[in-house]
Amino acid sequence: MDQVVYPISEQVKEVVQAVVEALRIPKSEEVPPSVAANSFEAEALRAEIIKTGRKLWARAYVDGNGGNISVRLGSKYVLCTPTMMSKGDLEPADICLSDLEGNILAGDRLRTSELLLHLEIYKANPRARAVLHCHPPYATAFALAGTPPPVGLITEYEVFIGPTAVAPYETPGTQAFAETVLPFVQDHNTILLANHGVVCWSDTVTHAEWLVEVLDGYCKTYLIAQQIGKPLAFIPEEKIKEILVLKRRLGFPDARMEMLPELDSEAPRESAELEQLVKRVVARLEER
Ligand SMILES: [Zn+2]
Repeated sequence: MDQVVYPISEQVKEVVQAVVEALRIPKSEEVPPSVAANSFEAEALRAEIIKTGRKLWARAYVDGNGGNISVRLGSKYVLCTPTMMSKGDLEPADICLSDLEGNILAGDRLRTSELLLHLEIYKANPRARAVLHCHPPYATAFALAGTPPPVGLITEYEVFIGPTAVAPYETPGTQAFAETVLPFVQDHNTILLANHGVVCWSDTVTHAEWLVEVLDGYCKTYLIAQQIGKPLAFIPEEKIKEILVLKRRLGFPDARMEMLPELDSEAPRESAELEQLVKRVVARLEER
């Protein structure tokens, strides 16, 4: 007997509906801040923030009390670093719990004034689950020059980041400063902040920190390569397109993604349907 084969979009739809049903209870808005702050998930996220803060300090990406880290906790809350503390000295009790308006709901200290920047990114791009801001020297040098580093030189940089943007200068800690990144936050997971530093978003705090490492290492290597006095060899455009296909599969943003449709004219219609489906599911989950 012939087996009936359902289109993949139908199969995925069924799975997704099952997931949505399974996630229905309990709704996160019913979880009060004190319960969210004391959950196992919050404990693990605080540990990840502390570990990442130590990495930032050890790599000299932050000075004094500079830099800040945050991560989303469910759909209503954010855990973030406090103000006026070295990122190398954080303890679990120092980490603040905030809502998406920046009101502190738990924690012994005042939140970072840069939480406004983090919140704008979360609100503008639901794929951002963790945000990290710091002042890595080589990348910040490009931010001072007001220009992103060139692309097309190192594969790892192309895959994880690709073109960065430079957000215009505003006074740090203000709402105006927080909004400077908004034009760039969909197509760029890594943004240079003019006369200041960098901000990265990702799915986890650890991955956001990787972006800073990849960016600053790339800027450093590029500056050293320029000292050699030979013209730099760029990755051919066709190979860059192969990298973009990989990035699309991995779900990484890249402002050059529009180069792909002409190249990928045979891309299956179903992949567009699936993308729409995933967007709808994410929207439904975000509403919880
Ligand atoms: Zn800063």
